Amino acid sequence: MSGTRVVSKEELNEQFNYITEVRTIISSRFLGKAPLALTHTYGCQGNVADGERIDGLLSEMGFEFTDKPEEADFILFNTCAVREHAEDRVFGNVGALKKYKEKNPNLIICLCGCMVQQEHVSERIRKSFPYVDIVFGPHALHRLPELLYYSLTNGERIFSVADSDGVIAEGLPTKHTNSLKAFLPIAYGCNNFCTYCVVPFVRGRERSRKYEDIMEDARQLVADGYKEIMLIGQNVNSFGNDFGEKNLFAKLIREINDIPGDFIIRFMTSHPKDCSEELLLAMKECEKVERHIHLPFQCGNNRVLSEMNRRYTREHYLSLVNRARELMPDISITSDVIVGFPGETYEEFQDTVSLVKEIGFTSLYIFIYSPREGTKAAGMPDPISHEEKSRWFAELQKAQEEVAFSRSQGMKGNVYRVLCEGRNKAGRISGRTSGNIMIEFDGPDSCVGNFCNVEVTEPLTWILKGELR
Ligand code: SAH
Ligand code: SF4
Repeated sequence: MSGTRVVSKEELNEQFNYITEVRTIISSRFLGKAPLALTHTYGCQGNVADGERIDGLLSEMGFEFTDKPEEADFILFNTCAVREHAEDRVFGNVGALKKYKEKNPNLIICLCGCMVQQEHVSERIRKSFPYVDIVFGPHALHRLPELLYYSLTNGERIFSVADSDGVIAEGLPTKHTNSLKAFLPIAYGCNNFCTYCVVPFVRGRERSRKYEDIMEDARQLVADGYKEIMLIGQNVNSFGNDFGEKNLFAKLIREINDIPGDFIIRFMTSHPKDCSEELLLAMKECEKVERHIHLPFQCGNNRVLSEMNRRYTREHYLSLVNRARELMPDISITSDVIVGFPGETYEEFQDTVSLVKEIGFTSLYIFIYSPREGTKAAGMPDPISHEEKSRWFAELQKAQEEVAFSRSQGMKGNVYRVLCEGRNKAGRISGRTSGNIMIEFDGPDSCVGNFCNVEVTEPLTWILKGELR
């Protein structure tokens, strides 16, 4: 793990001391009543997992939680930088906080996450959002107690956004958002530098957590009664490469699969260039690993894939899908696509449409290309208008809708083992099949939180309707 900086026990102890200090300050300031925190996370599972650590730290410091900004004493937005749209939403929501700060000058407003790790963004906050008190990037998350301590004691604005290759901080308290499904981070950062993507700039270099630390967490999650463990990382398939080990991810899922208990395993995201035969075999042979792989292909045209620096071809992607289906005929495949990468022509875009039709994805996350400052693609000529790209987007969406509808029709009459998550607004139980497709049915409360067998009676495009068997 050369070059990876693991936050030392001493540094973490220092943060735990700050936790105690903050607890003391707020209990005298709030006269024994717990202050209320509103936290909101945008973006990917990695960010959600960070948000769970932020909530864990805030809980330890004596905060309770609210979703009403008017009664909050502390408001934190854990932001995403992956597309401009995500950033615009954050700026809009931060603007709306001004009135709460005017009403309650003691309110502490905090922005963290990927977006603020970009220099132009932190500068904009410094200049245009003077009522934001604390700003910190993903590399400083474990220092939240210290930052809050200084904000409470000297009232000055705090910016902790220094560039870094990233750290690993183990042992932070975690407040899980879901009592059934847990995210388990296995690696942080990314080394791939896809030319459109800001993640390697804001999240630092790829660094795998220690194998045994992950196993310990997995055993604990099972012991705590979690029914689904989702292993997360920007590129789970290259887990362990920074230790100089190959195929460690396949070994990891086999070993988690061997933990006794009734639970399922999912993982994301898989990069096609690192999706190995060993991983597919492990998926096939591990009964707890669900029959679903999220395998973003981004584009169906080889010239554009090369410009994106994805390091695989359309043909390689197709061969992976064919192999996965040979081993697991019922595997559900989902993907991400970018429409309108700089220089992409309509003819090249048609290769994406044809790939979508050929593969038959269960579902697809389609994004219009969004230029990200500092990335290579942001400097490439991009002559196609946004309106034109929106038309391509709609065309691809329609193609995928047809694919998904005909795929789901083939599921009628099948019985799936479903992890039941809760009741929806209509009072029906809802859960997900092994392939991660939403299914709803009538059933007793005892289904919730358990696995039930459900027959598909009415397959719709994105959701299945069924009956308990
Ligand atoms: N590490 C994951 C993806 C993380 S970002 C992977 O490589 O698969 C999630 C998705 O956002 C990407 O798969 C991509 O489709 C999309 N995305 C990333 N940067 C983007 C950009 N600049 N514009 C539009 N979509 C983007
Ligand atoms: Fe971004 Fe590519 Fe890394 Fe995914 S693999 S996070 S798309 S650079």
